Amino acid sequence: MIKVFLKRKISHRIINGHPWVFANEVEKIEGESAGGEIAEVYTQDKKFVGRGYINPKSQILVRLLTRNRAEEINEKFFIDRIQQCWEYRKKTGYTENCRLVFGEADSLSQLIIDKFNDYFVIQTLALGIDVWKPAIVKAINQIFQPKGIYERNDVPVRELEGMLQQKGFLSEPFDTKILIHENGLKFYVDIENGQKTGYFLDQQDNRRAIRHIVKDAEVLGVFTYTGTFEIHAAHYGAKSVLGIDISENAVKQAILNAELNNLKNIQFQTANAFDLLKQWSKEERKYDVVMLDPPAFTKSRETLPKADTGYKEINLRAKKLIRPGGFLVTSSCTNLVSPELFLQIIDEAATDARRKIRRVTFQTQSADHPVIPGIETTHYLKFLILEVQ
Ligand code: SAH
Repeated sequence: MIKVFLKRKISHRIINGHPWVFANEVEKIEGESAGGEIAEVYTQDKKFVGRGYINPKSQILVRLLTRNRAEEINEKFFIDRIQQCWEYRKKTGYTENCRLVFGEADSLSQLIIDKFNDYFVIQTLALGIDVWKPAIVKAINQIFQPKGIYERNDVPVRELEGMLQQKGFLSEPFDTKILIHENGLKFYVDIENGQKTGYFLDQQDNRRAIRHIVKDAEVLGVFTYTGTFEIHAAHYGAKSVLGIDISENAVKQAILNAELNNLKNIQFQTANAFDLLKQWSKEERKYDVVMLDPPAFTKSRETLPKADTGYKEINLRAKKLIRPGGFLVTSSCTNLVSPELFLQIIDEAATDARRKIRRVTFQTQSADHPVIPGIETTHYLKFLILEVQ
């Protein structure tokens, strides 16, 4: 067994519950690691901290999986853990579709499993969790007897871990266009070619939060993807809905989803949001509700200032498009922009647009993506509704 000893003066972060051990926090390593093995972590005075997987090629040397000395990492470990994850989702009311495993928040670092009724999509984003893929698949089969399992490991971050990007079936092949239900509506999820795992489950509660404000409203939804927010708006009684996305494929899916729900007062258009918002605010177009759900504008701290500018620009322009007394529904999905910073950007955008705002609600991701205090990456989604006066 490889043993990793922490430096005496390391932050209390690890002792207090953070699962990551950075290479520069380590005093010495006993044993050789080629990457991907299970290692034991100790304090400098040899107190057991936990057991996790190690990769010397990664800046994060060890990611802890357990702090229980008696718990071995083996097939049974994955069955027990995934079962616990399922119990939590059932208790909190996320059964048909949910993020069954949310990595660090479920003490299964870098493992994502999304459940779309009887189908499962998995991502193993670090080498040390990737080696357990057969055990993870076995656990899913044992607990759920699923109709299919698919791997969406076409994620660049895997290359930092010395792995290839790949995707494909981890079960018998099946039709990868899946039908799910959400808030009484139907959606197709393309788990093979859709973005990320095919569908953004994290906004499922937030989509319901627009229920009252869209009634009889003219609604513009930007960054629509497969039309989920927009279809909710039409369903909740909007007068008209227009959804915009840069991806032609996404717009095609959105149109199919609208047809699937027999909605008529809804349209979609392929366009670049930055150009369109600029042009339409110049033309003084007006809407009662504008919804923004952009992709993460940054993946690193270095490009954070650019992301700030991006968020500010779209929010500023969106506010100009809103009739007095209308609403802005706005999101940010990167943990690099903290809730405080996000609110600050939105306040500044309001000042610049010379509009007064009132916060209607400020939410995060749905509870199948639980937030762990102290693990910043688990608190990533900001969802804000504002009244724009
Ligand atoms: N609201 C969606 C998720 C949106 S994901 C949902 O709840 O399911 C972000 C979307 O923004 C993606 O579909 C992506 O294609 C789109 N996008 C990225 N850059 C864009 C741009 N410059 N203009 C318009 N759409 C863009």
